[in-house]
Amino acid sequence: MCGFALTGVVAATAPDSSEHAQRMGRTVPFEECLPGTEARLTGSGGQARPPEGGELTPQEAARYHQRLREELVSLRGQELQPPQTVPVVVHVISAEDGRGDVSDERVQKQVDVLNAAYSGGRADAAARSTTSAAPAAEAEAADTGFRFELSEVTRTVNDDWFTNFDEHRDTARAQLRQGGAGTLNIYTADLGPGLLGYSTFPQDYEENPEQDGVVVAHDTLPGGDREQFNLGHTSTHEVGHWLGLFHTFQNGCTDPGDYVDDTPYEREAASGCPDGRDTCPEKEGEDPVTNFMNYSDDACMTHFTAGQGKRMVEHWAAFRGGASQARAD
Ligand SMILES: [Zn+2]
Repeated sequence: MCGFALTGVVAATAPDSSEHAQRMGRTVPFEECLPGTEARLTGSGGQARPPEGGELTPQEAARYHQRLREELVSLRGQELQPPQTVPVVVHVISAEDGRGDVSDERVQKQVDVLNAAYSGGRADAAARSTTSAAPAAEAEAADTGFRFELSEVTRTVNDDWFTNFDEHRDTARAQLRQGGAGTLNIYTADLGPGLLGYSTFPQDYEENPEQDGVVVAHDTLPGGDREQFNLGHTSTHEVGHWLGLFHTFQNGCTDPGDYVDDTPYEREAASGCPDGRDTCPEKEGEDPVTNFMNYSDDACMTHFTAGQGKRMVEHWAAFRGGASQARAD
């Protein structure tokens, strides 16, 4: 039995070091034993590393947090607000034989899933009327204030980009990306069997604006073929990183954890849906296995907390709001 069956990967540093942006991926569990948090993804045909990122070290997380604190000093006294809506541009990259050609309908459903997740289920409820009873799971789901609106779908048919996105991702994103810091760009392609998605952080934008965004496996969008991961919550999770959140298991049982007060500590990532697990018994609360920033199955994920919502709003104000949001390059 592996103590850490999920792939955990140290954040990648580009060889030329001009790009040192750290990124976090969501990965699927592997059957084989992987040695601790230094394990590297080997599931996709012997590939030495995932396209980007993985787990952040405590030092890397601390540096991101420090950058946030520095920015918040200059915003002191202001009331921080989420944006009205975040424009979303989805870039569908597919193969010539039609693989990965995600329909407009599924893209819209993905945006609907984001709205439901980030509103704590209230976006749908508001649209329907106020009479429908919320499922019990939504009781703890916070409305983060973020809403998303699909502004465009681009389609690129390119076998090479589709099957080797890792190799071409910087070129692809530089060519396709739209908008400023406040525009969410989502790229879909085939990421191989082990990787569901990855994202840049808000703090990365200033240095690497053209690489900013979220990459997800095409079959994770609602209605896709990725078993256990086809309800669209890979995008929910990656957008959480895009808005500054760490994994709930960041720093394990050690302070400051994920830098969010109302997410209980957790020693390691969850897989499946191990409800009731408590891997940090010396800390308060059971593991947040149903939190969107875990690695659980899509059907297991139910919520962000109020503390996570606040932290995303802080990141928005610090790195994605204001002038950078209005600027559409
Ligand atoms: Zn992640």
